[in-house]
Amino acid sequence: MTIDTCNFKDQKVIVRVDFNVPLDENGKITDDTRIRGAVPTLKKILDEGGALIIMSHMGKPKGKVNPKFSLGQITDAVSQALGVPVQFAPDCAKAADQAAALKAGEVLLLENLRFYPEEEGKPVGIEKTDPAYEDAKKAMKASQKEFAKTLASYADMYVMDAFGTAHRKHASTAVIADYFDEDHKMLGYLMEKEVHAVDNILSDIKRPFTAIMGGSKVSTKIGIIENLLGKVDNLILCGGMTYTFAKAMGGKVGNSICEEDKLDVALGVIKQAKEKGVNLVLGVDCVAGDSFSNDCNTQVCPSDDIPDGWEGLDAGPETRKLFVDAIKDAKTILWNGPAGVFEFDNFTGGSRAIAEAIAEATAKGAFSLIGGGDSVACINKFGMADKVSYISTGGGALLEAIEGKKLPGVVAIKD
Ligand code: AMP
Repeated sequence: MTIDTCNFKDQKVIVRVDFNVPLDENGKITDDTRIRGAVPTLKKILDEGGALIIMSHMGKPKGKVNPKFSLGQITDAVSQALGVPVQFAPDCAKAADQAAALKAGEVLLLENLRFYPEEEGKPVGIEKTDPAYEDAKKAMKASQKEFAKTLASYADMYVMDAFGTAHRKHASTAVIADYFDEDHKMLGYLMEKEVHAVDNILSDIKRPFTAIMGGSKVSTKIGIIENLLGKVDNLILCGGMTYTFAKAMGGKVGNSICEEDKLDVALGVIKQAKEKGVNLVLGVDCVAGDSFSNDCNTQVCPSDDIPDGWEGLDAGPETRKLFVDAIKDAKTILWNGPAGVFEFDNFTGGSRAIAEAIAEATAKGAFSLIGGGDSVACINKFGMADKVSYISTGGGALLEAIEGKKLPGVVAIKD
């Protein structure tokens, strides 16, 4: 069944969305891309006379109730996005009565799924090294099935539209699909679009292909970096990773973020890039600050010669030129992770230079895909969202899909 061919009249539909939106300290949404992303699927169901049960996670409450991560905070925003009132179920495993009472056109938002450890299905309070761990894991898998079954019991149909968590085999993203037959489960529009955008990058690579990987750490991105080395012509590594590379090559990085235990990994990346003929672009200079704050004193210095007490917080002017050169004539572009601490207004320059070069290349016909919460926040902060080809709502899911891994959230519906 596909979302396009399905008619939802008089159907109760449970939809897994990714409403894991960033909130400020007052609980106000700072970027609603993910809510907007789910609207086409949710509206189609409502417009055809279906009733909606929406479920999502938010943050990492680790299986415990935590008001900081309550989806109750976004009920109004969801209501505004859909143009109808939204009811709230404060306990996602005890929402049977509220779900049963829903009429056509009505919407029920369930509380954060991850308040239940069953959602992620990992045993809590027990170390992997504990001899009892395997039994605890088995027991948790069984209760995960029960939890998924409870969620499934609320509805006639299941729609998976949470690309951001499609790389996880959780109760609501994959296990629940076992309780619906082929005619009663499907991917939503957002999932279809995301999967298509990844296919676009992987199946028909127009060259040159430039990937830009930024963010804070090498360790979380090494899998995709190694994978990209087999695919791209230019690989820009920026953000906090810069300093692990600089240190690995014998540089002095002051207080910059640096993963001391990943120096060999960095050297391995440099070696592989050479062997594969990939143009690896690393920062040569940076804007360093004398503290981790927007208003610190700054100076431009070589990325591998940062004075003691200073830390690299953004790409420097020479580096920006190198980035722009590797991006502006590209025909396929992938960007994940900012080039500096873009949350501080004084350190957005490197990321802005990247965004502008991507916009220029896109205007000349390149296909550009931006993914990962932070790069999306960046492009939105610069008001340039309409100048790139596709903005993905996925971070980890996008990268795993590009690595060629099958996403459990897709497999659960399609295989
Ligand atoms: P990630 O979650 O690994 O994609 O990293 C995103 C974060 O990296 C953002 O919050 C940035 O502020 C941060 N980041 C980027 N460049 C730097 C840097 N030079 N030093 C510290 N953090 C950085």
